[in-house]
Amino acid sequence: MARKFDGNKLIIASHNKGKVREIGELLAPFGVETISAGELDLPEPVEDGLTFIANAEIKALAAATAAGIPALADDSGLEVAALGGEPGIYSARWAGPSKDFNVAMAAVNEKMGDTKDRTANFTCALTLAWPDGHMESFEGKVFGELTWPMRGDKGFGYDPIFVPNGRTETFAEIEPTEKHAMSHRADAFKQLINACFDTK
Ligand code: IMP
Repeated sequence: MARKFDGNKLIIASHNKGKVREIGELLAPFGVETISAGELDLPEPVEDGLTFIANAEIKALAAATAAGIPALADDSGLEVAALGGEPGIYSARWAGPSKDFNVAMAAVNEKMGDTKDRTANFTCALTLAWPDGHMESFEGKVFGELTWPMRGDKGFGYDPIFVPNGRTETFAEIEPTEKHAMSHRADAFKQLINACFDTK
């Protein structure tokens, strides 16, 4: 049985404002007040794990132990089958120091060349950590195919080249509310809420 979150305050272990806002909105119905690691000026740990879950655990544990209250971290990325799962945990880094995802998407497209297998998935790991070191981790996925050239301007990251299964539009052409209902993050969140939150 997973440990339940029974507090009313939670740290979002991220310095990324977009992620913090999205996670805060997802947790609002559960009466949880969220505060970000950025607002608390907590140090950013080195993300040297080799899996999404390992990196989410590093971030969540560092924040929970530094602040003395539970913390939630997200680590996510794009995995391309024909590239052996790359860029994977290095998805953010492929955008380079200027964080330009046009560069990252062009790199994915170039590495794929004319490979027939265009299948890919996004993965999202979520870890809830307590100050005593206990952790609960969940992993969500959404599967689809890569397309080129990029299409749409609604999402972020690799959204303009990812077409989820069953759709013809890219994630960047689909309304955010609809994307949030089917995404890897939504999948991981459902698991977290079912296991660790009272949904009465
Ligand atoms: P992280 O902040 O280290 O977890 O990096 C996650 C990276 O994966 C982001 O910078 C995006 O490039 C990519 N990524 C994760 N989720 C999504 C998504 O929903 N759409 C597009 N790209 C995503």
